[in-house]
Amino acid sequence: MEDCIFCKIVKGEIPSYKIYEDEKIFAFMDIQPINPGHILIIPKKHAKLIAELEDEIVGEIFKVAKKINIALRKSGIKSEGINFFLADGKAAGQEVLHVHLHIVPRYKNDGFGFKFPPNYENKPSKDELEKIAKKIRSAF
Ligand code: 5GP
Ligand code: ZN
Repeated sequence: MEDCIFCKIVKGEIPSYKIYEDEKIFAFMDIQPINPGHILIIPKKHAKLIAELEDEIVGEIFKVAKKINIALRKSGIKSEGINFFLADGKAAGQEVLHVHLHIVPRYKNDGFGFKFPPNYENKPSKDELEKIAKKIRSAF
């Protein structure tokens, strides 16, 4: 896609610090890392949302994520744990509209974390959970 920065990175039109590349997948350093070693994995073919990708590509992204996870742990980069994070849609925090999986090395007191909503403490009832699960199951 013409105006997409990640498509430009794949084509080499914008420089990046490459971590991994194969026929379908590209991985590179995030320009504004949450922690050192923050990597983005993307499909080479442009797609905005996960649902637009072929199943095979979704699988390949996770295969590469596993390789990078292992490499990060061996690399000596500070990493007591690793988060995989994917923002699917603007409301979920997606700023670059080309599917990307964040791989973020984590360690105690690194200052990063999720912010929970005020009603988080109020667990839903079993009925409510079942009602929601039913809606999702029936949408498959
Ligand atoms: P999102 O908020 O869409 O999940 O994440 C977009 C990520 O892309 C951010 O972490 C941001 O730092 C990274 N990013 C944005 N523009 C560039 C760029 O030109 N090069 C690289 N390497 N990363 C970028
Ligand atoms: Zn793109």
